[in-house]
Amino acid sequence: MPIRELPPEVIAQIAAGEVVTRAADVVKELVENAIDAVLALGSTSGPEGQAFTHLGTVSVEIADGGHSRIQVADDGCGISRDELPAAVRRHATSKIHAAEDLDRLQSLGFRGEALAAIAAVADVTIASCPTTGERGAALDVVAGQVGRAHPQARRPGTTVVVERLFERVPARRKYQRAASAETAYIGTTLQAYTLAYPEISFALSADGRGILRTSGSGDLRAVAAELFGGEVARELRTLRDEHAAREASEWRVAITGLAGTPFLHRATRNGIFLTVNRRPIESRSLQYAVDEAYATQIPVGRHPVTMVDITVPSDELDVNVHPTKREVRLLRDRLVFGAIQNAVRCTLAAEAPLPLIGETRGQPAVMMPEGPMGGAPAPLFAGAPATSGDERARPRLGGLRILGQVALTYVICEGAAGLYLVDQHAAHERVLLERLERDVGRGDGGQMLLEPVAVQLPAALRGALEQYVAALADLGFDVEAFGDDEVVVRAVPSALSARSIDRVLQETHETLEAEGAGPDWRERLATLLSCKTAIKAGQRLETAEMQSLLDQLDEATLCATCSHGRPTAILLSHSQLEREFSRR
Ligand code: ADP
Ligand code: MG
Repeated sequence: MPIRELPPEVIAQIAAGEVVTRAADVVKELVENAIDAVLALGSTSGPEGQAFTHLGTVSVEIADGGHSRIQVADDGCGISRDELPAAVRRHATSKIHAAEDLDRLQSLGFRGEALAAIAAVADVTIASCPTTGERGAALDVVAGQVGRAHPQARRPGTTVVVERLFERVPARRKYQRAASAETAYIGTTLQAYTLAYPEISFALSADGRGILRTSGSGDLRAVAAELFGGEVARELRTLRDEHAAREASEWRVAITGLAGTPFLHRATRNGIFLTVNRRPIESRSLQYAVDEAYATQIPVGRHPVTMVDITVPSDELDVNVHPTKREVRLLRDRLVFGAIQNAVRCTLAAEAPLPLIGETRGQPAVMMPEGPMGGAPAPLFAGAPATSGDERARPRLGGLRILGQVALTYVICEGAAGLYLVDQHAAHERVLLERLERDVGRGDGGQMLLEPVAVQLPAALRGALEQYVAALADLGFDVEAFGDDEVVVRAVPSALSARSIDRVLQETHETLEAEGAGPDWRERLATLLSCKTAIKAGQRLETAEMQSLLDQLDEATLCATCSHGRPTAILLSHSQLEREFSRR
């Protein structure tokens, strides 16, 4: 076939394929335009410009999952009649003028592609009235043909209507999901923007039914309450960014937002909302950073609920990676990764409340609606009494009055808020794990063993003898490879007991064997060692030993759970007791 230039309509459709592949993409682009238009008026855009008043309204209406109709209306800056045709032209934008502007982006849009792309695959009507006092006007693009802008009275702002999406692109149409699935996805997409812009009020309705509405009060927690219910919002803590604050000038990375307590967890990662410079993004690695920060605190296989906004200098953020702008590139991604973990951990350490008796494990204390259609009041876990956050605040455990040991497993003690039961194994495990982690790489010699012990390398780690020796050395062991599959241990980290260390290592190996080594075996090594060396359930403890355990638990930053995410301590509060005895 001869080489020929493609006709413009075909070029437009091919280009559109990168920007809009489904109805939710159209909604996303139109909502981003609406937000940019509202912020253009509010003059509070930019990372520092967290406004706390209602700035504007963005409302989205869809029909048939967006396939037959999408309407997005805003009360932002509007477009003048002369400029309407330019708005639907490819690579035409009011948001940047030169390449340098990409380094100081303040708006969500900048590629000047979205409206052109949408108009290439659907019929579009834009009605707009600028806030400058001009008259309103409207422009139709039907079957790819741009009409003439004509006067149309309306209030300031812009309404874009998209109809017959992909009707002219049968290949795309074929791959569209069911209307209900697309509606749900549109809801999820919009949620991210409502959380990124609490000062804008959003509404979404599908086939005339209200799905989501936020008030635009400027308060992130209020948005979370509107989306997921008050019970969920109450479990969210303001992220502390102590580390970054201290080194702010050097790091120039700030982490803000909310982190759910470990009692708020869900089956998917859909509860982890990430924004960079207030732009909702998708990032597996940063999601993983959040997940990791909760590791050992929430049950395995569950995921936390967080809203994390990362602020970086705009020249360290590259949004121009993909036409959909969903993925971004960060200049110092490792640093951001660490900053997120640090902020989440600091917050949890300081804020995580103790669970109340009645809040069973494995089941979140507070249920978060799994679907995107929050709004409905979230059911509180049955039986969990309304106890004030103050009561549940982590007490100084070392200061509690020890009453005794129950079933040779739990230390029972009394404090101002009520009775505490501390799981001696879980508590000790947490203490040991944190000490091990703290001592990593310190190489302070640890405790010498009277006699070196030899241990077989677990079969699951065959061929990884060197890494295994290095991992143990990192944790503070003095080890040496011996032959092909044996190690000789001469000293153990001071956090662990030197007694029967050979048995502990053996048991650790058996567990690694049984569970399969997996890519995270190094991290699990510390967890396993702390578990195997910790005081066991069924072990009798003297009062002094219990006291020492509680004192040590106080020093642990994450005292509320053991390294498997089980609680270390639970509270039977005075108010619960009173209720049980019908005293009130
Ligand atoms: P981009 O957002 O990348 O600039 P778009 O194709 O999405 O590209 O929009 C093109 C232009 O149309 C924008 O730069 C803006 O000037 C104008 N525009 C689009 N939507 C709106 C809106 N809701 N309010 C005001 N102006 C808008
Ligand atoms: Mg845009």
